[in-house]
Amino acid sequence: MFQVDVFSFATAVMALLLAGGLLIAYAINRSLTAFGWWAGAFVLLALWLATSTMRLPMPAVWIKWLSWSSFYAAACLVAYGLHKEGDTRASPVSRMVTSGILLVVIATGLTILNAPPPYWLLLGPVPVLVFMTWSTVLVFRAGAWGYGLTLIAGIGAVAIRSLFHPGGLARVLNPPPPPALRGGYEAGSTPGEAIALQPRPPINGLIDFAPPPGLRPPVEHPLIITLFTVVALLALAVALVLRHVLAELNRMRQRSTTDAMTGLLNRAAFEEAAAARLRETRTRPACVILLDIDHFKRINDTSGHAAGDRVISRLGLLLRQASLPHAIAGRIGGEEFAVILSASDLAAARLYAEAVRAGLSAADFDAGISWKVTVSAGIAMHQPGESLLGLMDRADRALYAAKATGRDRVVVAGDLAEAGHWHARQTNRTATA
Ligand code: GH3
Ligand code: MG
Ligand code: MG
Repeated sequence: MFQVDVFSFATAVMALLLAGGLLIAYAINRSLTAFGWWAGAFVLLALWLATSTMRLPMPAVWIKWLSWSSFYAAACLVAYGLHKEGDTRASPVSRMVTSGILLVVIATGLTILNAPPPYWLLLGPVPVLVFMTWSTVLVFRAGAWGYGLTLIAGIGAVAIRSLFHPGGLARVLNPPPPPALRGGYEAGSTPGEAIALQPRPPINGLIDFAPPPGLRPPVEHPLIITLFTVVALLALAVALVLRHVLAELNRMRQRSTTDAMTGLLNRAAFEEAAAARLRETRTRPACVILLDIDHFKRINDTSGHAAGDRVISRLGLLLRQASLPHAIAGRIGGEEFAVILSASDLAAARLYAEAVRAGLSAADFDAGISWKVTVSAGIAMHQPGESLLGLMDRADRALYAAKATGRDRVVVAGDLAEAGHWHARQTNRTATA
């Protein structure tokens, strides 16, 4: 039989419960990849707690190895989960393996030399700390600041563990108070019967791992350290959840503002962005271009809806490719598009619209569309004090004029106002392909 420190046992059970919780979360949402690894880490942490507090009927050196390797493996799983989450490119596996081999080599050396506790003390935490620190560097490089900070909390917990682990630095630096103050029970005696404590045997490397026969190991330090570790890991788990929630929110926002077929802004998002642009660039010229595909019904009717969709996608691509730094483009209707060009005059807007118009008329739609697909565009330049609605309305009238005068052309609203419809037809008709 073995004896169990009840507090550490309770904490180990807690770690196992957390592992179960993480596994359930992972089972429900498989995209939470890290949670699977984290569950494994908690199981190993429970093993670490158990082996470092139970007095198992096996040689102390085996217990120590079991304890350290489970803790090391837990740290590896945590780092691997972080790697999965932080999406760092470099693989953490080689680092885990290297530090693991180093751990084995050093421990074997210490065992052979029967080294005193300060050397043993460095063995468990130092490689773990080094490699957790290295993971932090990778996480920071990947720009995952939340993870980096929580990982630092985890490193802090491991460091505290290494400082205060019974038999560790704490005992080396501060000799324990007289044993009588700690209390204890003889194995097999009824609780409450305090027994006189014997002075501790001299510190003697591995042998010192186990408390004197008949005594429970002191529980204060493992408990505090375990709580620190569990809290740090919980903080990490919360950070992971938060990151997923934020990413999901971002995706939802993206979906609600983007047109799926073209990747451009949808109508509402375009109007919002365009209005904001007009407010920002009040002192510099801004233009709106409206585009409408010519005889689009005919494409749908003769070549099918899918062919029509391909034309819409192609125009969306052309608008994205022709994009200037100051351009915002949106799909504001079935086959209607709008672009706002801030800090651009009519000449720049016309160039942009011409590039898109020429691009579409040169496009080759092999599957079922035998004729040339064209687009008409209307442009208006923002007047001082004019609303977005007024600006769009003038661009729409220019577009209507482009349709009325033969399609496949770009018409500018200002020219219309000055010279009338007929003049617009004569001067704005641009070279057709
Ligand atoms: P015009 O040259 O005067 O613009 O003629 P048009 O045939 O293009 O006329 P209109 O702009 O009124 O036609 C719009 C058509 O676009 C009507 C509708 O069935 C079709 N449409 C709207 N949204 C989509 C879409 O997402 N996919 C496809 N394939 N067709 C669409
Ligand atoms: Mg239309
Ligand atoms: Mg049309």
